[in-house]
Amino acid sequence: MKIIAIGRNYAEHAKELNNPVPTVPVIFTKPDTALLKDNKPFYHPDFSEDVHHEIEVVLKISKEGKHISEKFADGYYDEIALGIDFTARDIQQRHKEKGLPWELAKAFDNSAPVSTFLPKSQFADIYGLNFHLDVNGQTRQAGNTKNLLFSFEYIIAFVSKYFTLKKGDLIFTGTPQGVAKVNVGDRLEGYLEDEKLLDFYVK
Ligand code: MG
Repeated sequence: MKIIAIGRNYAEHAKELNNPVPTVPVIFTKPDTALLKDNKPFYHPDFSEDVHHEIEVVLKISKEGKHISEKFADGYYDEIALGIDFTARDIQQRHKEKGLPWELAKAFDNSAPVSTFLPKSQFADIYGLNFHLDVNGQTRQAGNTKNLLFSFEYIIAFVSKYFTLKKGDLIFTGTPQGVAKVNVGDRLEGYLEDEKLLDFYVK
């Protein structure tokens, strides 16, 4: 499986990092070794002084497809989860300044914790989902999927022009504002609506 992620898909987050609001999706990938499941602890890497949390809604692809049209894209994912797109912001900043790729900042081992998946059919409105991240009991990020710049269907259609999507692939759909540094000892709890799906420690 592969992990595909969208950058700057909420306008307020793009602005907080002084990035332009994009007119086409910003795409990057993470390898399967980035996946961290079952609320296992995240071991802070020693190559970064500034690893940020980015809470995101994650889609799970349910069947193979390429050149999927936006009209039919809804049929290519059936479950959603919450994930954290851990980002070594200091490395990313240096690479951005030089116009270099982001992999070392975004795709390192365990940089993609993902919760259990829920059937999307259990949600009445997939574009009215509240989600938030608490760090040590304080809400740091809160978003709602109504504020996505690019819809889930648009993302699937766009990405599938370039990458064949396979059953089990994951798509991280972007983070709302409030990204910040994590520290050893932090407890991260992620909620989709009122359900706590993520609960793990930084070690
Ligand atoms: Mg992200």
